[in-house]
Amino acid sequence: MKTPHLLYANEHGEVMDHPDLLAVGRTASYITDVPDEEWIPLPSGASLTWLPGTRAIGANETTGEFEAVGSEAYAVGALLPQGFTRLLLPGYVKRPNDDTTLPLFGYTAVGWQDGEIYVAAHPTDEPGPWDPSLIEERDVESAVQSMLAAHPENRLFEHLSSCALSYGCMTAKNTFVGGIEGALPVSSSCNAGCVGCISEQPDDAPFPSPQTRLNFRPSVDDIVEVMLSHVSRNPQAIVSFGQGCEGEPTTRFVDIVRSIRQFREKTQDGFVNINTNAGLTHGIKAIVDAGLDLMRVSTISAIDCHYNAYYRPRGYTLENVAESLSYAAEVGVYTSINYLVFPGVTDREEEVEAMVEFLRTNHVRLVQMRNLNIDAEYYLSKIPPARGDLLGMRSVIDIFKSEVPGLTVGSYSHVPA
Ligand code: SF4
Repeated sequence: MKTPHLLYANEHGEVMDHPDLLAVGRTASYITDVPDEEWIPLPSGASLTWLPGTRAIGANETTGEFEAVGSEAYAVGALLPQGFTRLLLPGYVKRPNDDTTLPLFGYTAVGWQDGEIYVAAHPTDEPGPWDPSLIEERDVESAVQSMLAAHPENRLFEHLSSCALSYGCMTAKNTFVGGIEGALPVSSSCNAGCVGCISEQPDDAPFPSPQTRLNFRPSVDDIVEVMLSHVSRNPQAIVSFGQGCEGEPTTRFVDIVRSIRQFREKTQDGFVNINTNAGLTHGIKAIVDAGLDLMRVSTISAIDCHYNAYYRPRGYTLENVAESLSYAAEVGVYTSINYLVFPGVTDREEEVEAMVEFLRTNHVRLVQMRNLNIDAEYYLSKIPPARGDLLGMRSVIDIFKSEVPGLTVGSYSHVPA
């Protein structure tokens, strides 16, 4: 396809296409052309946003030179739904003397061509089950009302009702409408301090956390009631500990073990999953032994200095994470990583080599490509400078598939085939 034209916004956030400049992208802090084959139509469920504090950059249609658009023009980016991996950031630079730090979103390069919006993205997984436009809000509201009426004492259902109705969390909505994966947030504390944590940010952070962290300890009885309710409507459903609105679930591993045991005394239906940083290895081992089916480990790198700079782990190391993964795989748990990816960092040679080794050594079955939601300048200022050659995000996916036997690359948790 022909290179689309640049989209930019004025100071009111009104988006328009540029008559002469073509759309470009960005990788880490470098402006770059977008290979024509990397443009795809804007997917259903995606949205556009303008980027305050930025200047939009485009390419001169004749010379190919990169040019900043007039001083009143701001960059525009797309926010992608599950199922799509961002290949490049939008083309922009930060305005001098403007210390705006962008909120925690996954900004993606966009362009305009023949009346259509295009994005620099890769369709990595079947988007259907996670397309927010497929669930009617009124259906969620009525499902929430009937569930709360049926379980008036259950504080976990009550907490999840606000996640579903105010945050629009898909996993919380699923818990009420009976979608594939239901939510089981249980912990208000964490053994890490991620730079881009979505449930808790330090007071001096330049952006708020998009969600408020759980502030109570759901009881084992409430947890088991939510688990049973979810799989009773779909025996192939997944119930997941470790949600965006909580800390690290394994800080409550004793209660998770009790919940899984009580749940399995009542049914063999469904799959029990945990989304975790897997740093608390003895907790992970106890949960695995209690009957865990799936485990998704969140990570950003297999290189210690990068991992430590982003996760700021308290009392654990990447070695503990690896030990948790291998133990779970040995016991037959379907393991995956929730790989926080960022163009210009993830696709560095050294990152890819280290991650291929990590996936092989720890027998990981699935990589879930997760676009890292963060301001580029802020993230790059917090991690060690990247070194090796840039391979491109598209190549990262191909290398994982070719270099790690039996590995699946997707975007969300799947039950084992
Ligand atoms: S592991 Fe999760 S809850 Fe803990 S700091 Fe990181 S993102 Fe936040």
